[in-house]
Amino acid sequence: MKISLNPHAKDAATRDALVAEGGFGKYYTDHMVVCEWSEKDGWGEPELKPYGPISLDPATAVFHYGQEIFEGMKAYRQPDGGIALFRPDANAKRFAKSAARLALPEMPEALFLETVDALLKHDGGWVPHKVGEALYIRPFMIATEVGLGVRPSNKALYMLIATPAGAYFDPSKAVSVWISTEYVRAAQGGTGEAKCGGNYAASLIAQKAAAAQGCDQVVWIDAKERKWIEEMGGMNLYFVKGSGADAQVITPQLTGTLLPGITRDSILSVAKDLGYKTAEVMLSVDDWRDGVASGEITEIFACGTAAVVSPVGQAKSAMGTWVTGDGEPGKITMQIRNALLAIQHGTAPDTHNWMSAVK
Ligand SMILES: *Cc1c(COP(=O)(O)O)cnc(C)c1O
Repeated sequence: MKISLNPHAKDAATRDALVAEGGFGKYYTDHMVVCEWSEKDGWGEPELKPYGPISLDPATAVFHYGQEIFEGMKAYRQPDGGIALFRPDANAKRFAKSAARLALPEMPEALFLETVDALLKHDGGWVPHKVGEALYIRPFMIATEVGLGVRPSNKALYMLIATPAGAYFDPSKAVSVWISTEYVRAAQGGTGEAKCGGNYAASLIAQKAAAAQGCDQVVWIDAKERKWIEEMGGMNLYFVKGSGADAQVITPQLTGTLLPGITRDSILSVAKDLGYKTAEVMLSVDDWRDGVASGEITEIFACGTAAVVSPVGQAKSAMGTWVTGDGEPGKITMQIRNALLAIQHGTAPDTHNWMSAVK
């Protein structure tokens, strides 16, 4: 790894003041990592360098045909003051799968992890200290061949940046959702399983439609039968049936069009650890509405790296409006959220070997 330190790195007091502001994506750490790939030479040597703008030819492939992928992961402050990553190997594997789908080069897992480690070694001071806060790490890759011909790029640029993420969980407010019957996020054979910018570009109009309905987020249903619940915005969904020790914690099955969330996967284990039955199922909009009406569905929450767990309250759609629970986050939702956060912050035993200490 080539190291070019930032001569204008923030002093500790300035940095700590920025971190203390909370929020998300407002400030970036002092450094970034870049690594170039070419068909001819493969992966080059990664370089850690000062965070800053990059210069690209206007005819660079990514600007025209959207060949881009990304990841999102977090580094958490530990009780001993150290830093640990949550399941970085899972992000590395998913990044390689996304790359394959977008005809980008698969980055070796070891190289991916080396870049994350290097950034944290130099910018670890940016990892917040409060529970629920973390340093959000954004690896991404763009197609950099210059030319307007449509073909898989023979050059790519990998970059890694990081931003402190405050606790943007407001326990007093459940998210309201608009179930979109107008737009589709992903279809079989498409890019729904890949973490790519194009999926998000295509989703923004639906997010706008949700806002016009007074809702916070959009819920996606399947493209073919237009009835199976898939995801909420950029997060996976969970439904709780029943209550107490007999409760069942279920999530839409991965059909090839859902993004396989690492938080989703982790919650299947955490819920089991807490003694709940879990299941990955096909769940329709009718099942949702009827389950809420009968009282069988007691809690709903969304999950993802950024927010970890967000309670879902009102659902609005062309088929009607219904509300789960009393608008307050459910008991099991909070229990799962706290159990997962405790593992991430190192205050509960890491029985699944999910945490990776940064040395
Ligand atoms: C990233 C993402 C998720 C959540 O995945 P995590 O690994 O849990 O962060 C869910 N849905 C979509 C569409 C995503 O892009």
